[in-house]
Amino acid sequence: MDYPDTRLFIMGTWRDAEDGRSLAVLNPTTGREIGRVAHAGPADLDAALDAAHAGFQIWRHTPPIERGRVMRRAAALLRERLDGIARLMTLEQGKPLAEARLEVLGAADILEWFADEGLRVYGRIVPSRVHPQIRQMVLHDPVGPVAAFTPWNFPINQAVRKLAAALATGCSILVKAAEETPASPAELVRAFADAGLPAGVLGLVYGDPAQISAHVIAHPVIRKITFTGSTAVGKQLAALAGRHMKRVTMELGGHAPVIVAEDADVDLAARVMAGAKFRNAGQVCISPTRFLVHRDVVETFAHALARHAHDVRVGDGLEDGTQMGPLANSRRLTAMQELTHDALERGASLLAGGERLGDSGNFWGPTVLTDVSSDARVFNEEPFGPLAAIRAFNTLDDAIVEANRLPYGLAGYAFTRSLRLAEQLSHGVDVGMLWVNMAAAPWPELPFGGMKDSGYGSEGGPEALSSYLNVRSVAVNCAPG
Ligand code: NAD
Repeated sequence: MDYPDTRLFIMGTWRDAEDGRSLAVLNPTTGREIGRVAHAGPADLDAALDAAHAGFQIWRHTPPIERGRVMRRAAALLRERLDGIARLMTLEQGKPLAEARLEVLGAADILEWFADEGLRVYGRIVPSRVHPQIRQMVLHDPVGPVAAFTPWNFPINQAVRKLAAALATGCSILVKAAEETPASPAELVRAFADAGLPAGVLGLVYGDPAQISAHVIAHPVIRKITFTGSTAVGKQLAALAGRHMKRVTMELGGHAPVIVAEDADVDLAARVMAGAKFRNAGQVCISPTRFLVHRDVVETFAHALARHAHDVRVGDGLEDGTQMGPLANSRRLTAMQELTHDALERGASLLAGGERLGDSGNFWGPTVLTDVSSDARVFNEEPFGPLAAIRAFNTLDDAIVEANRLPYGLAGYAFTRSLRLAEQLSHGVDVGMLWVNMAAAPWPELPFGGMKDSGYGSEGGPEALSSYLNVRSVAVNCAPG
């Protein structure tokens, strides 16, 4: 499949922007333009909002079992089209083909899980205090048309988590996916169109993110906002949603601590964390970033992690054997340069990477820094790139204080052989998701979300569906008079 130009999807049809505007899409491996994406203006957005309203009237009355069938058909189409879609994702985002394929397959799994879970959105009957003839019902209804804003790091996964929960509960949804990676989420939408989703239930737009969010969030048709991206933008969108009294789910930045205790299996910790750190070139909200390692094992751990970093095969994601592709955009390359330089200036030692690779594309060497000062930028700002920063600690209490020092609270990791320490960490580390002695395993049936500045709401488990539902209480006197 050649890389296509991407159009808007409004009321069941693919169309260019009304004023004909479009934006360039660059391949991060070469830095060259590979296609265009339509840039929606206010007239396109109004048409998309009308469509979301019309779609909601159909979908809210569609039985959950039929909604589930459509979602399952879309999942089957994703699996059938796996190779073509994964290739588009690698071309526009840069990740290795194997990772792109896993993302598409994971999206199909997510759709199937939500299709099933949508069947279990029940209400309840609450006995009356006054008379048995009064029937008190608790009803769960879809909240209404949803506006979703999704980023470029997982172009399909970030969109599918939102639209799976919305569609399973009977909401319509308008997605603004990332302009930098438009073609693969468009294939997700195409799978739904081909699976028989009624027109208007799902829309897709691209354009100027700030203009679209201002227009769409304020619009009375939209009843819920869901956003994945940086904390700074999330706070702006949450404030805007608050002004218009709209429900919100925010999946924002993180700065995941990794606590390696004195008794940890250090080889396991280095191997598992290297895999997690350099996946998608570190552009993952749950990427391990702040490595807090007990003083007695820090040197062994740091050198083991650096050996893994040296072994990572960096290159074009389409080539066999590539384990890490380029950064998705040149902003991340600049960020890696600045964060590394700042850490070294503040006394850190460089054990691996630390520089751009080649002079075309956004390639950055897998980087390991140790003895990083706690006031270095990389220990305070989310790096969102292939950069591991290590610091030693003396006591587990010190490590927990350091882990909780930042306003972020998304993911955390820990390595210990002691159940007692695992228990202490489970309760002590303020994160929405903690993995002990293992890599992240964010299955659709588990809650996925953060606390503090990492946002609120969940994108997994039954909790993900609750956030797309209104809870109503209706009492009927069945024998009045
Ligand atoms: P950014 O903050 O400009 O954008 C992040 C995302 O938000 C992008 O997808 C962008 O299109 C969207 N966005 C920006 N302004 C918006 C607005 N006013 N309304 C609606 N959407 C808007 O940063 P960036 O350079 O694209 O990414 C860098 C930072 O973003 C990273 O450091 C990371 O913290 C964060 N990020 C997080 C995730 C995640 O999975 N949580 C994903 C991508 C980026």
